[in-house]
Amino acid sequence: MDRLALVVPCYNEEAVMKISSEALRGVLQDLIGKQKIAGDSFVLFVDDGSKDKTWELIEEEHRLYENVKGLKLAGNVGHQFALTAGLITAKDYSDVTVSIDADLQDDVTVIEEMIDKFHAGNDIVYGVRNDRSSDSFFKRFTAQSFYKMMAVMGVKTVYNHADFRLMSKRAVEQFAKYKESNLFLRGMMPLIGYQTDCVYYERKERVAGESKYPLKKMLALAFNGISSFSVKPISLITAFGVMIICLCFLAAVYALWSYFTGHVTAGWTSLILSIWFLGGVQLVSIGLIGQYIGKIYIEVKQRPRYNIETFLNERHSMGSVESRQSPDAHANSDRL
Ligand code: UDP
Ligand code: MG
Repeated sequence: MDRLALVVPCYNEEAVMKISSEALRGVLQDLIGKQKIAGDSFVLFVDDGSKDKTWELIEEEHRLYENVKGLKLAGNVGHQFALTAGLITAKDYSDVTVSIDADLQDDVTVIEEMIDKFHAGNDIVYGVRNDRSSDSFFKRFTAQSFYKMMAVMGVKTVYNHADFRLMSKRAVEQFAKYKESNLFLRGMMPLIGYQTDCVYYERKERVAGESKYPLKKMLALAFNGISSFSVKPISLITAFGVMIICLCFLAAVYALWSYFTGHVTAGWTSLILSIWFLGGVQLVSIGLIGQYIGKIYIEVKQRPRYNIETFLNERHSMGSVESRQSPDAHANSDRL
């Protein structure tokens, strides 16, 4: 039977840890009882450099329950990196993984359906929200505009799928070979190419605590998603530049015509406005190209994407924990 790992990134989630752990352990028990997964399946909580009691709570859960493991990262590296760290660690101890947020906004009851689809031969099963009514209007609007924008920019993503997904061991192994530092998991998974399917669920409210994705982080994720997968914005700039040049020719023809026909074009305002407008366009364009160069800069450095501080794996009889130090000492935080 297949060993399942539930991978849960947690950042300042002390308010939900207990509830979350209980619910996820419940899911494992249920599936083990139904003989759909192996008895030694487990939950892996990944602490993304939390500043509150999250890690202490994970340690406690690990002490109390055999099927809870914990991974502590050195510093806050962001959701996408924390999830990557969890998946890559979990794959060595499991046959199939399901990634899910700690706040239980994603419906844990569809995990069974995911497992069924995995047994039916799918390597990746996406959890797709078919109802976002629990999200605020603003969140819904921005998220949906984002998916549409991604499609316009030519990036393949699964509409309304966040990071609630099942991946087989070999899918995670393939994913681990994608070494980029600018991570956007939702865009990367479809590139793996194995057979995929979807399960649908209603997105709920957070059980407790607050969203760790403020507008700034959400915009950063959206921009990162587009610029990591598409160079279309740069092509658009070129097209825009060509358009402006054509407009300039037309304006020059008009100016010559007014000169020879005696119409004087008095227009300091229009002149200054167009200079400022074009100046702005140029600065934005240079800035955008700069963003891409910045990404190349980060990629070529090939820094480790996360550093593991402690890994609570097997429990020893004395209650001590197995700890693994990362070979690389410095944390690389704030990558997102
Ligand atoms: N998270 C993380 N690192 C961060 C921010 C968030 O590991 O820097 C985790 C967080 O604990 C949660 C998941 O990512 O399990 C999704 O975050 P959240 O629920 O706050 O986002 P939202 O659902 O509001 O988009
Ligand atoms: Mg959430």
